[in-house]
Amino acid sequence: MKIKKIRLAILGVLLIVAAVAIVYLFRMTEYTTITFHMDTYVSYSVRARNAEKLVMEMDAEFEKCEQLFSRFSSDSDISRINENAGEFTEVQKDTYDLMCEILELSSRTDGAFDPTVGKLVDLWGFGANPHVPDKDELDAALQSVNYRSIRYKEENGKYYVMIAADQIIDLGAVAKGYALRKVDDILNQHVVDYAVISLGGNVFIKGDKTSDSEGSFSVGIRCPEEESSEMALIISLKEVVLSTSGSYERFFYQDGIRYSHIIDPFTGRCDSDEILSVTIVCSDPVDADALSTAYYVKGLGETLDALSSGEIEGILIDSSKVIYISEDLFQYVDRDSIADGYTLEVVE
Ligand code: AMP
Ligand code: MG
Repeated sequence: MKIKKIRLAILGVLLIVAAVAIVYLFRMTEYTTITFHMDTYVSYSVRARNAEKLVMEMDAEFEKCEQLFSRFSSDSDISRINENAGEFTEVQKDTYDLMCEILELSSRTDGAFDPTVGKLVDLWGFGANPHVPDKDELDAALQSVNYRSIRYKEENGKYYVMIAADQIIDLGAVAKGYALRKVDDILNQHVVDYAVISLGGNVFIKGDKTSDSEGSFSVGIRCPEEESSEMALIISLKEVVLSTSGSYERFFYQDGIRYSHIIDPFTGRCDSDEILSVTIVCSDPVDADALSTAYYVKGLGETLDALSSGEIEGILIDSSKVIYISEDLFQYVDRDSIADGYTLEVVE
């Protein structure tokens, strides 16, 4: 009788320990951290089951994308494609998929987004040696820009990409968006309350911040002045990605003219000053990243038309400090947050 009671007691204790262990393993935790990938800081704010482990998994994905798409590492797929220009290079499926999508995005933006601008990027020397190239060099580099020359094929389960012999590709305008999409795939396989991940002008928002009555997250759109870290406005959104391309990111001055890192593939120039930043708000990180670059190139008139027709949703800041916002987004703006000196206009 006594032994039976002891057995029951032990069983009871084991059940309690098991229940505590299950609650512990499956509990929702919050985790925030900052890492560095793709030449920029990556910040995470996540509430999920085992959030720290999930963040480590996502961070490994950024690392993987960096290894595929970086131009700084000689054995990345992109460096190998550039090295073998004129011949097919075997690449990972991710690279192949992204290159197929890039062709569509370049065509959709009439070539304003064109990753074959690599030679121009190198010529202007953003990063290492920024300077205004001479006209002959610029004209020669411009000849190599044409996304239509990109070829891809799949053979016996292997994937290949080829660019023209004189071309260099640079995925700086879209690689972060692609990495965010892969990270979203990971989030979809986990139990997640929310995840907010930002890197290099891209802010990805998933889930609900239930502590807020609306469940939305406040995102600041930066004042596009060079030295400013102030916000031009705050907008509260959920289940979207915002991607901003701005002239304040990488730039230099020569003879009083400011040159910034987004290059017009038709002229080879990068001194346009009518737009200071373009933010695209949509559901897909690759579209957002490529389109913000493309509309920055397209300029004020075309971007306002696209906002007005509903072709894109977003926020544009011009050089007179006017913030143009799509009609549908206006309701989410905190109107008290608009920075001094800026005016807000709704694009109808
Ligand atoms: P983002 O900050 O996303 O607008 O990307 C800008 C980066 O993309 C630059 O630093 C270049 O590496 C590259 N780039 C510049 N101009 C273009 C363009 N017109 N189309 C595609 N990529 C570009
Ligand atoms: Mg971009």
